[in-house]
Amino acid sequence: MKSVSKVFGAGAQAFRALDDVSVDIRQNEFFTLLGPSGCGKTTLLRLIAGFEQPTSGEVLLDGRDFSGKPPYQRPVNTVFQNYALFPHMTVAQNISFGLEMLGRPKDRIKAVTEEMLRLVQLEAMADRRITQISGGQQQRVALARALAPQPKVLLLDEPLSALDLQLRKEMQLELKRLQTDTGITFVFVTHDQDEALTMSDRIAVMNRGEILQVGTPREIYNKPQHRFVAGFVGEINLLPAETTGVNEFSIAGGGCLRSSEAAHVPVGGQAVLAVRPECIALSEPSDGSLTGVITNVVYHGTDTIFHFKLADGQELRARSQNNAARVQTFATGDQIGWSVDPASVSVLADDP
Ligand code: ATP
Repeated sequence: MKSVSKVFGAGAQAFRALDDVSVDIRQNEFFTLLGPSGCGKTTLLRLIAGFEQPTSGEVLLDGRDFSGKPPYQRPVNTVFQNYALFPHMTVAQNISFGLEMLGRPKDRIKAVTEEMLRLVQLEAMADRRITQISGGQQQRVALARALAPQPKVLLLDEPLSALDLQLRKEMQLELKRLQTDTGITFVFVTHDQDEALTMSDRIAVMNRGEILQVGTPREIYNKPQHRFVAGFVGEINLLPAETTGVNEFSIAGGGCLRSSEAAHVPVGGQAVLAVRPECIALSEPSDGSLTGVITNVVYHGTDTIFHFKLADGQELRARSQNNAARVQTFATGDQIGWSVDPASVSVLADDP
């Protein structure tokens, strides 16, 4: 996708849903578009599918420009949020219907339908009507139906949002397995960061019609490059700071932090440092250590969140695992020391 923009409406009503988006989605990868409601995820998916045309820019599939081609002439299929299954047909008929429309030979249709039923583990339900199976099973039928014509790319628009949490977790693993087994490129839309981190080979984080960062789940979580990305994916502490060296910073709440990343701004310039709560180590205060005062302690079973305040009033959070071998016991009002490994300090660019 090269420099793609999409404007809906015209004149004073014009709305730029996508603004100069360029991204390369690789063959055979599980690629996720992650962002808040209204950021343009569905629009981007619809441009790949051919349901919408870009206002400017190019959508290339396998290096070929498919601009202007209708959805059915693209090597792409879509799984919709509401599944869009045919209620009066059986599970097997739902899967074979698309193949019949494509005019595939009868014996081939039968073989592929059986293979798809096996793939989504619904062989025993082949003759049931859609109304006689559960929501999770319907989701699998929708997947099988979309995979049956063997598209090069499968587009999935929040396909798990109708499922309860338990089933959703199971289907996340199932989808990842299906993608690995079939080798088909999956482009998956979600606003759920956990879902994105669990399943994806790479994630594109979007906001207001732009892609802010593309990376592996680990890169997105550990090395966010924008404030928005840092805040949207997981919990984060943001520390305003002044650059005092190549990778040294004086933080507004008092004291110094180092980062293994170089500063984007010259000495004397303002920066924002991002630190995950689990990367802050608390200790008894000592000479030269960064200090704070505990303001709240929240127990979560597997871990405890310690809220603490710096001298300038800024509140930070530290997450400590409740590992019996090293339980941390601080209480509200305690003076503490805190530290962060420089490898866990990200230096953020301002959002565009
Ligand atoms: P959600 O998670 O809520 O589905 P999204 O990130 O998928 O959100 P889009 O559906 O791509 O967002 O919409 C992006 C923006 O474009 C929204 O502000 C939406 O109102 C606008 N939009 C989408 N389709 C149209 C249209 N046909 N006409 C006018 N505006 C549109």
